[in-house]
Amino acid sequence: MIRLASLGSGSSGNAFAIEAETGLVLVDAGFSARELHRRAAVLGLDLGRLSLLVLTHEHGDHVNGARRLARRYRIPIAATEGTLRALALPTEAPRIALRAASITECGPVLIESCRTLHDAIEPTAVMIELAEVRIGFAYDFGRPTVGLRHLLRDCDALVLESNYDEVMLRTSEYPASVQHRIAGSAGHLSNRAAAQLLAGLHHPGLSLVVLAHLSRQCNRPDLAVAATEGYLSAKGFRGTVVVAGQDEPTGPFVVRPSLAKYRAAPQVELEFS
Ligand SMILES: [Zn+2]
Ligand SMILES: [Zn+2]
Repeated sequence: MIRLASLGSGSSGNAFAIEAETGLVLVDAGFSARELHRRAAVLGLDLGRLSLLVLTHEHGDHVNGARRLARRYRIPIAATEGTLRALALPTEAPRIALRAASITECGPVLIESCRTLHDAIEPTAVMIELAEVRIGFAYDFGRPTVGLRHLLRDCDALVLESNYDEVMLRTSEYPASVQHRIAGSAGHLSNRAAAQLLAGLHHPGLSLVVLAHLSRQCNRPDLAVAATEGYLSAKGFRGTVVVAGQDEPTGPFVVRPSLAKYRAAPQVELEFS
């Protein structure tokens, strides 16, 4: 059984956990190690079972506790070459370089990655497959690319940025230049853009959508959920939409590989490292 949980998400820190019988995978570690332990305990997760840490990019709200966790548990860290270079990782932590448009095998975990448009060195979105469950993670980007849509296809669960409400951003106290940067292609995804992307990604096996990285100033959870549900219900979506909160963990949610039968056979070459 696979369980997905958010330890927290937003500009003050991001971390998500995938729990399986084979171990625990963390996607981003953007809180202090102490706070990650506290939040994991709230979720009933034991970080001592950590088997892999996947990092999307080097910004502090995604990597704050990464070095400490890597040193303490000596777990492999999977990230792009650019992200690995940007982090002063402890030498004892094995590194796994993720390459765009290829699948990397880390024991029982398959990771597919796709470069995103963001103001970091080599940011990536990832699709993690474990025990036939596919979970996509995409945040900190302004526009979805063709590659990103391909990466997030056929997922059983999606963790997707729904950063701001367009009216709240326009009427916010942010200066015009900041509003521009947020709404730009290397900025963040609006509720409407996230909902439209989700509508395009919808398929009968999608059972869980976790809306992530919400702005405190320019968004509200009810607005993000309403936008997404509006677009998804028109597609016949019957799953669950939740918001990953910033201050406390959310979940865990059981994700089942219900949709394997809907998927085409993989066409991508396996890459072993
Ligand atoms: Zn970032
Ligand atoms: Zn971020």
